[in-house]
Amino acid sequence: MQMSVEKKTMNCLHFIDGQYVESASGKTFVNINPATEEVLGTVAEGGKEEIDRAVTAAKKALKGPWKKMTTHERITILRRIGDIILERKEELARLESLDTGKPYSLSSTLDIPRAAYNFHFFADYLRSVGTEAYQTDDVALNYAIRRPVGVVGLINPWNLPLLLLTWKLAPCLAAGNTAVIKPAEWTPMTATVLGEICQEAGVPDGVVNIVHGFGPNSAGSALTEHPDVNAISFTGETTTGKVIMAAAAKTLKRLSYELGGKNPNIIFADADLDEVIETTLKSSFANQGEVCLAGSRIYVQKPVYEEFLHKFVDRTKELVVGDPFDPKTNVGALISKEHYERVKGYLEIAKEEGEILLGGGRPPGLDKGYFLEPTIIAGVNDQCRVVQEEIFGPVVSVLPFETEEEVIARANDTHYGLSATIWTNDLRRAHRVAGQIEAGIIWVNTWFLRDLRTPFGGMKQSGIGREGGMHSFEFFSELTNVCIKL
Ligand code: NAD
Repeated sequence: MQMSVEKKTMNCLHFIDGQYVESASGKTFVNINPATEEVLGTVAEGGKEEIDRAVTAAKKALKGPWKKMTTHERITILRRIGDIILERKEELARLESLDTGKPYSLSSTLDIPRAAYNFHFFADYLRSVGTEAYQTDDVALNYAIRRPVGVVGLINPWNLPLLLLTWKLAPCLAAGNTAVIKPAEWTPMTATVLGEICQEAGVPDGVVNIVHGFGPNSAGSALTEHPDVNAISFTGETTTGKVIMAAAAKTLKRLSYELGGKNPNIIFADADLDEVIETTLKSSFANQGEVCLAGSRIYVQKPVYEEFLHKFVDRTKELVVGDPFDPKTNVGALISKEHYERVKGYLEIAKEEGEILLGGGRPPGLDKGYFLEPTIIAGVNDQCRVVQEEIFGPVVSVLPFETEEEVIARANDTHYGLSATIWTNDLRRAHRVAGQIEAGIIWVNTWFLRDLRTPFGGMKQSGIGREGGMHSFEFFSELTNVCIKL
């Protein structure tokens, strides 16, 4: 890794077997700052050869000092990684905002502190993880042994780069595995620094490896096809998940999937509207709407529809779009030109399918960078593409509804099933509706409130398996039952 703080540039290398290395071919690609369109540096472009080297190092490291460490030693190292992330919080938050275009006010208060907490949390969790034991009458005693799965491929998206990478890496290491990480090509910087942090914390060489590159015909596909990779934990688009599943089938790898979402935000007429609006601003536009959990389908009960729309539009107008490093900024830049064009394509569709009530364009005065005004769409129905497809930008649709039964059916009318928010002060209704919405994560009168012990993941085409607490440990562990005849 080479970094120039003054120039705000950084060239990202792979981290393999404890060393920063270039690609064997010398190939690199350019990393762009989405807020300025300036070059942030180059990124080593890995492929089959680099993945082979990383997997070989990870396989060897499974039998090295990492295997012999006591649980206490492993906990100490994991805690230390979290500590160093916090010590380097400003630097990491700055890199995250340069790379993603997200406000520094967000990366410094959410992404990086949570990345540190992921390590602290799983280190603490490891202290109390046990296994099962059953006595079969007077006949036998059964107990389970927990062992690592082996070499695990961790494939990550660009929207919450370090937060989501560490959400996988911390339990992966806590359970004694070794890792080959493939960061998203658009956000390589904080992942690159993490190699150095792990080394400083005492992680033995080869336990954590990072290979940069693209997905298809590149580092991503090489990782999913590698016969010595035992499991893949993937967060990204549903369509990519399908491709990875086919590749992983050849060697029958264990898979964990956190995929896309088109999440309903259901507002009943009895809800506290001011609270609804403040939280809905976040669930719609935080992180430029580039959040898998974004509540991008807003269903509002008819008696308060007009009032909600009026107030929501007014508050959205107050959001400041612009320089990620300006403390006043609420909404930064979208990740890339390609993604910007994709989101703008949906705005053209929205004009045909309904009406853009607010936003839809480049904010005045911002000529460079992939900035888009927070956008509110109305006049659409459930079958419209802007209501069915994940846009992954600062774009939401607002739709009226009349009855509870109706909104449950409409909320479930999608192939996604990641999360939902229900706003009501009626306790019985809250429980009743929560039990019928097809989503893995349901919030009542809140959004994005997380307890890392709880199951996190999606139903239907939003994912397979759950992350969090014990669920992460189960994915990253092999259990062997030992049966002793008494
Ligand atoms: P993406 O699927 O395009 O890419 C994710 C990662 O997969 C990248 O590292 C990419 O290089 C890699 N990849 C792409 N093709 C591959 C292939 N054929 N083989 C192996 N690897 C491949 O997703 P993205 O655009 O980076 O992220 C946005 C998506 O992620 C959205 O759909 C969002 O909802 C989802 N997401 C889900 C969660 C969740 O927890 N459910 C969290 C964040 C993001």
